[in-house]
Amino acid sequence: MYSIVHTAMIHGIDSCPIEVETDISDGMPVFEMVGYLSSEVREARDRVRTALKNCGYHLPVKRITVNLFPGNIRKSGSGFDVPVAVSLLAAMGQIPQEALEDVFVTGELSLDGSIHGIPGVLPMVLAAKEAGASCVILPADNRKEGALVPDMKVVPVHHIHEIISFLQDGVVPEMESQPQKEVLIRQEAAYDFSEINGQKLLKRACEVAVSGMHNLLMVGPPGAGKTMVARCIPSILPEMTPEEQMELSKIYSVCGKFGERDRLMNVRPFRSPHHTITVAGLVGGGARPMPGEISLAHGGVLFLDELTEFRKSTIEVLRQPLEDRKVQIARNSGTVTYPSDFVLVAAMNPCNCGYFPDMSRCRCTPASISRYMGKLSQPMMDRMDVCVEAPVVGYRELVGKEKNETSEQIRKRVERVHMVQKERFAHTQIAFNSRIPPKEIESYCALGTKEQRFMEQMYEKLELTARSYHKLLRVARTIADMAGSKDIGLIHLQEAVCYRGLNKKFWENCI
Ligand SMILES: [Zn+2]
Repeated sequence: MYSIVHTAMIHGIDSCPIEVETDISDGMPVFEMVGYLSSEVREARDRVRTALKNCGYHLPVKRITVNLFPGNIRKSGSGFDVPVAVSLLAAMGQIPQEALEDVFVTGELSLDGSIHGIPGVLPMVLAAKEAGASCVILPADNRKEGALVPDMKVVPVHHIHEIISFLQDGVVPEMESQPQKEVLIRQEAAYDFSEINGQKLLKRACEVAVSGMHNLLMVGPPGAGKTMVARCIPSILPEMTPEEQMELSKIYSVCGKFGERDRLMNVRPFRSPHHTITVAGLVGGGARPMPGEISLAHGGVLFLDELTEFRKSTIEVLRQPLEDRKVQIARNSGTVTYPSDFVLVAAMNPCNCGYFPDMSRCRCTPASISRYMGKLSQPMMDRMDVCVEAPVVGYRELVGKEKNETSEQIRKRVERVHMVQKERFAHTQIAFNSRIPPKEIESYCALGTKEQRFMEQMYEKLELTARSYHKLLRVARTIADMAGSKDIGLIHLQEAVCYRGLNKKFWENCI
């Protein structure tokens, strides 16, 4: 007897279709599983055999071969238990093969035959739809996630018995209407710039950074509200498109972090990993590759608080993803790619005590300040486009009655500047000003004579390098766009220089 069952396996944040074939024939009694399997997939054999026995289905004393096709992809993950079990049952004649034709099956099996949820259901159901399946049988735990794919019949199941009665007689298992348990989906968009008093310069810098998708570094003493400001940044990014929502949801699904949501993720993420995070935790990896924080921040903000506390080696690995906007992880089983397009926001104290350059309060010696700054690598600093000082808010500002702008008001302006860039770069690979390649700087950031003269002075005064000069022009381009100006004027360059000046003041004075 022969049977075939359709399922899929996660690869990166996508999923590839897999077929589980079972053949039962006369011969030496043996149960074999083949098809380039990783050890956890091989273990499915024992789980499935025991689960079926406990449900009253004894495997025949015959030669049983299960093959996972195609053979050139290494099979990993725990979602193969249920397809293997269903395939065996079909080969044993318990399930009609016709019922399996355009059905897709996934899930992990427990020894008593109950079915557990697995990560990555969303991309799997999408793959099933692409492959032409009309119905998906998946663990009840994952039913909300699976139901997000339009035009697909989803059959959530708790137990292998339910699959059998569905495939035999079309009985759809009843779901107890879930009691409205406290679903604690954090109010992710609860932060708003209107709650921040004062900090005008800092808010402006955030708007500049987000408008051109530049990386932002805030330097200031403890208590200046850097973290609070960073948390508000996702709220001024443009609203997510349906494609962005789907992509982000897939990333969280693959990590098993999709949770109890009953809609796609529509709030831009804010990720703030602790400085003790490992390289694999930050960029992704592990024996079974998983997306890291930079992918969980995809489309949103990655906030590195206390930047100097991060190990240099940890920070260095960000360089490549920052260039490529994606991260590639190589394993013997192949290379996986995760998207990681985020706004990098970092914060740090200016010195160990936090009060430099306020010499009345700073207790650090020049040597210790120099050591402190030495923790940051120059290549990483070169990637921070907009550097801004975050002073402690004065009393007047704090209690001031001045009405603050809401994030929505700021977001409207940001959206307009993004539109300007979209039109400018319509027929290119470039998405934002921050990503104009060096060889095209001249055409997109052309300067007049006056402006050129100014930049010539600045080049020497600030001891700019080619890289920092280009960065400055990109930021100036964004500032000009924000002002609705076609040309980059002196005033735009001057503001861009302000965001650069901080480097000079903090880094070179003390070393
Ligand atoms: Zn100090």
